[in-house]
Order: sequence, then C-alpha cells, then structure tokens
Amino acid sequence: MAIDFTLAPEHEEIRKRVRAFIQGTVIPAMEGVKEGDRDEYLRTIFRLRSQAKEEGLWLPHMPKEWGGMGLGHVELAMVQSEAAKTRIGPWVLNCMAPDEGNMHTLLHWATDEQKERYLRPLLEGRQMSCFAMTEPEVAGSDPTLIRTTAVRDGDEWIINGHKWFISNARRANFAILIARTEQDVPEGSRGANTAFLVDLPQEGWNDVREVETMHGSTGHSEIVITDLRLPDSQILGGRGNGHRLGQYRLGPARLAHCMRWISQAETALDMMVDRALNRFSHGSLLAEKQGVQWMIADSAMELYQCKLMVLHAASKIDKGEDFRTEVSMAKHFVANSLNRIVDRAIQVHGALGYSTDTPLAGMFQHARWARFADGADEIHQMRIAERTIAAYQATGSTSTATGNLPL
Ligand SMILES: Cc1cc2nc3c(=O)[nH]c(=O)nc-3n(C[C@H](O)[C@H](O)[C@H](O)COP(=O)(O)OP(=O)(O)OC[C@H]3O[C@@H](n4cnc5c(N)ncnc54)[C@H](O)[C@@H]3O)c2cc1C
Repeated sequence: MAIDFTLAPEHEEIRKRVRAFIQGTVIPAMEGVKEGDRDEYLRTIFRLRSQAKEEGLWLPHMPKEWGGMGLGHVELAMVQSEAAKTRIGPWVLNCMAPDEGNMHTLLHWATDEQKERYLRPLLEGRQMSCFAMTEPEVAGSDPTLIRTTAVRDGDEWIINGHKWFISNARRANFAILIARTEQDVPEGSRGANTAFLVDLPQEGWNDVREVETMHGSTGHSEIVITDLRLPDSQILGGRGNGHRLGQYRLGPARLAHCMRWISQAETALDMMVDRALNRFSHGSLLAEKQGVQWMIADSAMELYQCKLMVLHAASKIDKGEDFRTEVSMAKHFVANSLNRIVDRAIQVHGALGYSTDTPLAGMFQHARWARFADGADEIHQMRIAERTIAAYQATGSTSTATGNLPL
C-alpha cells in the first residue's frame, strides 16, 4: 500500500507558481483597486485573467485538450486552496463556482455542437454561466419537488417557473436550467426533470432582483420564467436526466468548495495565532493562555482532518472509485470546521474580529452558507447514515462506509 502525501516534482512546481502568482501578483493588484470603483475592479480582474492564461495557470480542473492544466483532483486540491487565499483567486484562474461545475457538466453531458457553442467560450474566459435549480416555493434539498415546468408545444418546449439564488445570473451568457418535463411519473421520481441550455438574455427569462443576503447583494438572482420557448436542441444530457446531471455536477463541485474553504480556514487559524502572539493580557500573551491554546489546538486538529478527508475523497475520484460517502463527509466536516475556526479567530481578536477592519467578519458571513448550500448538513448526514447502515447490512461491518481504509 502506498501512502505518500508528497507531490510529484512537476506538481510541486505548479503549486509554487500558483502561490507566487496569487501572493505576488493577484493580492497586490486587488489591494491597489480603489474601494467602490467597480470598473477598475473588473478591469483588474480581466487583466489578471489574461496574465494567468499566459502563465499557464488557467483552468486547473480541465483536461489539457480543452485548454486546461490537466490536473487530477488531488493536485487540484492544492491549486484551489492556493488560489482561494483571496476570494478573487479562483475567478482569476477561471475555476470558480458556478462556472467550474458547469464546465464539468458540459464536458460530460453536452453534444459536440453544444460543447463548441457553450463550453468553448466558457473555457476561453469569453463567457460566464449560471445554474438554475433552486426555487423559493419548494425545498431545494429535494429536487424531485421542482415546480418549473417545460411543456411540449409542437417542436418547442414552453417553460414557466420561478427560481432564486441563481449565482452569477446577471453576468451569465447562458444558464443551465432544470425544469420538470415528465408529468406522469410517480411523485419523488428522479426521472421527472430535464436540463436545458438557455441563452441569456432571453425573452421569458426575467431577472427580477438580486437577493440581498447577510453578506450583501453579491449576484444571486431571483428569476421569473414566463412562456420561455426552447427547441429540443437546447436539452442538455437527454430528456429526464436533469436529476442525474445535477448530482453528477455536485460531486466534484462540492469537493472544490471544500478545497477553497480549507484555504479560508487556514487563513483564519494563521490570523488567530498571529493575534495570540501579539496581544498581552493579565501578565502574559494570549498565546500562553490555556483557554486560547485550546481554541488553537482544536482548530489545528480540525484543519488537519479537513485536509486528509479532502485528499482522500479526491484520490477516490481520481481512481474512478465510488466517492459519494467521502465527498459527503468532507463537505459536511469542512463546512462546519470552517464556521468553527473563523468563529474562534473572531473570539481571539475580540472587538477587532467583529469589526470590518480584518477580513474575518466577511469570512464569517460567507462561511455560513457552506452548511446548507450544495447539500445541507442534514442531507449529507442522512446519506452517510443510509450508506453506513447499508454497508453493515451487506457485509456485517461498517468498515466500507468509513473510507474503506485498511485499518
Ligand atoms: C450563496 C448561495 C448561492 C447559491 N447558488 C445557487 C445557484 O447558483 N443555483 C441554484 O440552483 N441554487 C443556489 N443556491 C441555493 C442552494 O442550493 C439551496 O439553498 C440549497 O439547495 C438548500 O435549499 P433551500 O434553501 O430551499 O433549503 P431547504 O431545502 O428548504 O432546507 C432548509 C433546511 O431544512 C433542513 N432539511 C431539508 N431537508 C431535510 C431533510 N430531508 N432532512 C433533514 N433536514 C432537512 C436543513 O437543515 C436545511 O438547511 C445558493 C444558495 C446560496 C446561499
């Protein structure tokens, strides 16, 4: 059995280049942008994107034949976490949500013609996309409840419905839209939904507002769809495959979120330790207080677990093994660890941590959605428990449900 956590020399080289680019170019460039100057902000991002492309630090998650870096998921973990040291990093490398998940989806499910029309411009950074599944009226946790309907009318589909929290919708040149096409299937059936490619802007697609959230209004739209007409050729992945397509998309995309969250958690722990080493109270540094040391130790242990879980789940994806339980466990554990670690960092910073003078307040607001988007905690726990029970029933042991490791 080979357990080796060192990177191959060529991958170590990539990691160093990504780190140097993010730390030496991206972070200083973004710090130089005047606060509130949206035009300069966007100009800077597009300039950095061109530079990333020139330096071969572009599309780390895509195969080389599609202009990507051709990395496996284990190597991707280190690139994503280096990039996410700044929120804008994954945008610069063109591996941010939701485009990253949409690229995987198109690569796997699109026809050759659809790939040229939708995937190619996305990969080249000429276009952006969104993924429209969640609806305000029904639980997003259960996509079999989707109410947006696509009804056949001659050669076309007429789509009506209501979506919300559609990230990136106002910037997107197209959407992958999930709608119910099969009315006669039993309730709860996974074959009721179909994915459609929708060019934007489009008659019938009404972006009515950007939803204000606890971290501001950052591009999550509410969409009212009224008599939107699409031909058959806009179906992605075949009729009735919308649920499977959504699930396929979410596996690696969930793990990519974890890779970025690890980076945020590490930043919070670095800040916690730095503050503890520089703040003096009741005769000693905070770093010398047992109560603070416990917060540091708990955070370090959790971050270590996060990294091992993500690397193991990534290695299972790379080997083509069933990764669903490991990705669920990683997604749940990393999301919750991120929330706890950022919270502890705020605690150690006191009033400064609560202020917006450090990035911690913003990180805390962003961290909160990690516990319910891309599968709420409880949904992952439900699936983990189901598979653990099934493993015991099938083999008399839960061992295969706990990573299937040889111990
Ligand atoms: C920042 C952000 C970006 C997003 N971007 C997108 C996007 O681009 N496209 C898109 O389609 N959606 C997007 N979403 C929506 C996201 O996918 C949903 O919020 C998520 O799927 C949960 O659905 P819901 O909000 O309807 O919660 P619900 O499904 O109503 O669940 C609410 C809570 O109920 C509990 N719960 C639900 N079901 C069960 C169960 N079976 N057992 C136990 N407890 C349960 C959980 O605690 C859960 O948190 C985004 C959300 C956020 C916050």
